[in-house]
Amino acid sequence: MPESTVLPSAAIDPAAIPRGLFIGGVWREATGGKTIPVSDPSTEESLGKIADATVEDGLAAVAAASEAAADWAKTAPRKRADILMKAFHLMLAKADGLAELISRENGKALADAKGEVNYAAEFFRWYAEEAVRMIGDISMAPGGANRIVVQYQPVGVSVLITPWNFPAAMATRKIGPALAAGCTCILKPATETPLTALAMAEILAEAGVPKGVVNVVTTSKPGPVIGAMLRDRRVRKLSFTGSTEVGRRLLAEASQSVVNCSMELGGNAPFVVFEDADIDAAVDGAMIAKMRNGGEACTAANRFYVHEAVYREFAAKLAARMGAMRVDDGRLPTTACGPLVNRASLEKVIGFVDDAVKRGANVLTGGKALDRRGFFYPPTVLTDVAKDSALLHDEIFGPVAALVAFKTEDEAVAMANDTEYGLVSYVYTKDLARGLRVAERLEAGMIALNRGLVSDPAAPFGGVKQSGLGREGAHHGLLEFAEAKYIATNW
Ligand code: NAD
Repeated sequence: MPESTVLPSAAIDPAAIPRGLFIGGVWREATGGKTIPVSDPSTEESLGKIADATVEDGLAAVAAASEAAADWAKTAPRKRADILMKAFHLMLAKADGLAELISRENGKALADAKGEVNYAAEFFRWYAEEAVRMIGDISMAPGGANRIVVQYQPVGVSVLITPWNFPAAMATRKIGPALAAGCTCILKPATETPLTALAMAEILAEAGVPKGVVNVVTTSKPGPVIGAMLRDRRVRKLSFTGSTEVGRRLLAEASQSVVNCSMELGGNAPFVVFEDADIDAAVDGAMIAKMRNGGEACTAANRFYVHEAVYREFAAKLAARMGAMRVDDGRLPTTACGPLVNRASLEKVIGFVDDAVKRGANVLTGGKALDRRGFFYPPTVLTDVAKDSALLHDEIFGPVAALVAFKTEDEAVAMANDTEYGLVSYVYTKDLARGLRVAERLEAGMIALNRGLVSDPAAPFGGVKQSGLGREGAHHGLLEFAEAKYIATNW
């Protein structure tokens, strides 16, 4: 469907979304009929219940994916591409409805949710284009004895686990390349935001994805259910996005049957502002890097290291912008910052700010949870944050910017690298040579140089150190779902 014929965006009635498990192309209840409640973090009101899968249900999904695997692997790449492209257009056609749904179950501001839907849909378009470009190679062995023929084949049945912070994009970033590479899959979304995943299952079915190629299983017992899947020899791939803590546990489990793993884990991004930076541009970038998704992004700037010569100016300008943000129900069009996803997240952020203040930090704006229903915390700027404050070492995952001054480039790099995480780092300077030099020294999989955003389906997204293994997006993301097969031959 050419872009000009995209249908007007339609609303999605949350009540009309199927609430069951999607296994083998059929919606069904969980064995035993248990359910999990879902609620709106802006109002704490119920959004209904979804099925709570058992181990038996999880293994039924593996069986469905396994039965569909051979046919899907030999489906022509062009056909797989056409289905993904149709899913892209269907997502755009339903963009407003999906955005509202994301905002309702996650809490994020509608503008952020709309941005997510577009970003998420782009993974289907990108991998529709990549599906027909799984290119191998042929070379002569250096000794001249034979040819080396390399062909890429689908890795096999894939378990995809996603977090709640980008319920659409984290799913399409895995489903897109899995399907393009010829793999069938089981998606296990987060229990906080399952409705978006269930709506996506309907979109994929409408786009023509055959029965069993994409299955969706929701469960309140991810440990046992995923554990059983990983021990099942039909499962060959685990692609996980979530916290480093859960990622570590899953890597240990996957090691039992040597399942191929891709891991997109936590971050603790430094945002470095040099004295020669364009301060207004740095504040614009900081607003995106910190406040997109209300701070609940793995790429969120967590620690701001600002040169002492521009520290006060940057802090004052950032505090003015953060303090002016309207905090309200995510679905209101005027909302700039919605609530946190749940009470535990709110309490974690409160604890981080209280700890930093106890250790001497100054609050320039925010600093106190809002006295209202829902899990609201105001955009907060802290200066003079002591080095031993917990929020400099752990992911804040909320709308709090912690500022620390530095004197030299070496000091800034050392502080930025002083973490077990290495997902993304932000650098602001007008000196390109310095920018590139510092980018090379920073221990991160991605660098934003004079930018507040790195995410792009056409770019390899991923971290070093304990922020992950492998890359999503770009051609790299396709290869995560493929195995290189080497054939030694002569002719
Ligand atoms: P989480 O690790 O708690 O949960 C992620 C997913 O894993 C959920 O679906 C959850 O149900 C499931 N899960 C939890 N315990 C499990 C277990 N024992 N076995 C199998 N599955 C299990 O993370 P979260 O709170 O949903 O998401 C926030 C985290 O995700 C942050 O750390 C954030 O940085 C990270 N994240 C990373 C990226 C990235 O691309 N690197 C992107 C988004 C989020």
